[in-house]
Order: sequence, then C-alpha cells, then structure tokens
Amino acid sequence: MPGVPVKPYLPFRLEKLSLQEYQKRRDFSRSPEPTARKQSSTKGNIYSIQEHHASRLHWDLRLEKDGVLLSWALPKEPPGEPGIRRLAVRTEDHPLDYAWDRGQYQMLADKPGEEIVFRIEGKKLSGTYCLIKMKKGENNWLFFKKSSAS
Ligand code: MN
Repeated sequence: MPGVPVKPYLPFRLEKLSLQEYQKRRDFSRSPEPTARKQSSTKGNIYSIQEHHASRLHWDLRLEKDGVLLSWALPKEPPGEPGIRRLAVRTEDHPLDYAWDRGQYQMLADKPGEEIVFRIEGKKLSGTYCLIKMKKGENNWLFFKKSSAS
C-alpha cells in the first residue's frame, strides 16, 4: 500500500501479528530496539502515539493490551477533531518498552478484530476514539475521533 512505511503483513492474520512476529522481524544485535517480552505497566492502559520521521512520515498508534502494545501505522496525521477518518494499518505487537510520549486510555468497547472504542488522555489527543476494521485489506482499519455527542 503506497505511502505506508511498514512491511506488507498481508499473509498474516491479525492474531498472528504477535510479539513473535516482532522478534522474527528484527536483528537485535544490530538494532537498539527493545527485545520482545511481555510485561505490564502499573495501570495496564498505556496509550502512545508518535510522529515517526521514517523514509515516509507516519504516526504510530499503540494501545497496551494483555502485556503488549497493539500497534497501527497512520499514513496521515491523527485527527484531533470529529469528522475526519484516517487509515490505520495494523502492524505487529510491540513490547511495552516501545511507548514514549505516554498517556493513558480507557477501553469503552472492545470487539477483538472488529472494533475498539476508547477514551484517550494524552498530550496531543484527548477524547473518545474509534478503530474499526475495514472489510477490504487484511490489516486496514479506520481511525477517527467520535463527537462528544455520540
Ligand atoms: Mn513507525
């Protein structure tokens, strides 16, 4: 998918985008990245979003769940207001050590593999946000802010 600086993970189903995938895709002797291990933060609800100046600028959205960070790559800037929908491409889970610029989130609704609704308390984003899996594209999700009325 053009404009998205992540490797194509299309052969993998969502449940296989695990820490094992993360571990497999990295050479830790050459990379300073954290090794794959599960742990938990104190509250277990880290929210993190990072502007990543890779070969193509993108934003990494991460939500702590069950000792890992569920991860999506957003090709465009995350929406601060309702009414803007962004593509979010699911990438492999990351270790908790990956989170910086931390905030917290509260899960409001979680249908695994379909829809996640959560309240973010971060520095740049705050409010109720939604991730909905698109029918087309194995790892393509929509990411948007809900209006406070909904
Ligand atoms: Mn990235």
